[in-house]
Amino acid sequence: MSNLKLQNARSSELFARAQRVIPGGVNSPVRAFREVGGEPAFAARGEGGRIWDADGNEYLDCLGSWGPLILGHAHPAVVAAVQAAVVRGTSFGVPTELEVEFAERIVEAAPSVEMVRLVNSGTEAVMSALRLARAFTGRDSIAKFAGGYHGHGDSLLAQAGSALAAPGVPTTPGVPEAVVAQTLVLPYNDLEAARRSLGAGGVGERLAAVIVEPVAGNMGVIPPAEGFLAGLRDLTRQAGALLIFDEVITGFRVAYGGAQSRYGVIPDLTTLGKVIGGGFPIGAYGGRREIMEMMAPAGPVFQAGTLSGNPVAVTAGLTTLAELRRPGVYEALEERGAALAQGLSEAAGRAGAAVHLRQGCGGQVHINRVGSMLTVFFTDNQVMDFASAKRSDLARFARFFQGMRRRGVLLPPSQFEAWFLSTAHTPQDIERIVSASAEAFGEATAPS
Ligand code: PMP
Repeated sequence: MSNLKLQNARSSELFARAQRVIPGGVNSPVRAFREVGGEPAFAARGEGGRIWDADGNEYLDCLGSWGPLILGHAHPAVVAAVQAAVVRGTSFGVPTELEVEFAERIVEAAPSVEMVRLVNSGTEAVMSALRLARAFTGRDSIAKFAGGYHGHGDSLLAQAGSALAAPGVPTTPGVPEAVVAQTLVLPYNDLEAARRSLGAGGVGERLAAVIVEPVAGNMGVIPPAEGFLAGLRDLTRQAGALLIFDEVITGFRVAYGGAQSRYGVIPDLTTLGKVIGGGFPIGAYGGRREIMEMMAPAGPVFQAGTLSGNPVAVTAGLTTLAELRRPGVYEALEERGAALAQGLSEAAGRAGAAVHLRQGCGGQVHINRVGSMLTVFFTDNQVMDFASAKRSDLARFARFFQGMRRRGVLLPPSQFEAWFLSTAHTPQDIERIVSASAEAFGEATAPS
């Protein structure tokens, strides 16, 4: 499996063709592998914890389609259920029993969710939840955290203004300044900063909502500091703003009921996606009944979708959730994650890169992990917010990524993303990832 020489003729040809008809050759920017260099792998097939690219190279897959594939690729139960669903019809435009059952499962699982509405992506879930929060509170402003990603809705493509309580600044052309001027950007894991901004004398009473990834996944994995989520809960309650947990990644990933059950902090609204679709396009937002009943047609707030609640996607989701309810699933994911983090840290240590698991300081590599999601940061400081994540050595990460790829392990092609394990990764797979890393760490951290 350590195919040190990758074949790439077919992927190269496909990438050249793609670039003629698709901007940058990809349908989502990070897939172009620009941060790590080289050309993207074009996937041909996946099974369990592995994928094969268009040139026939085999990889142990630590990308997991960016989170949804908690059961691995082409899980037999999901495939069988989807095949049966497809022949019954792929979309109806009237409600189905499947949607009712799926909503019931989500409401049972997520402590904050009394009612839920299905959409087609995480982006759509977040955009809808924000509209609802604004309607419910009668306020326009929102707050997010630097390095948090909540999909590509205009109002969240904001970075911090020049002062703590200053209006946000667009992160991309095409977003009007006036839209992100309503978005306050705060540092993650800094409860004091949040208190100064939202507390007495701050902008708290102008805020409709504070939205947060309860475990950050989009600046690499960063666990919430002790008391951070509970502190946000108090601050938002005092300010009369809603607390939104964006659990698009963490929902059914870090625990069956998401980060809210893992950390015991209950938001007003929750957004979901990824795992609940079992690899199909889906999103959802839910929360307290009195808030959710503001949505049309129960209430006045409009939001709709031709393919929302799609029976094939819902079938994949229902089957995935049923698999996840089996006893021992999350314990096994936790164990696999812990074994990988431990193995990687030992391998990095042997390669001479002093390594630190989460709390440590002073090494060249820091590993943050929550359950089956983790990130190896090439930095000598502890990573607890976007500023510390950005101090990572991206050239080292790129060398590490390439070293792992050559040895048959596919990582997310960015320092600022999470690796995702699945129930299909065996202890032997973990060992193989670790043994590939032993050499890749050496290549990555050698003085250049
Ligand atoms: N929220 C979070 C926390 C996410 O990680 C993502 C996507 N990575 C989104 C929202 C957007 O979801 P989608 O890509 O399905 O639109």
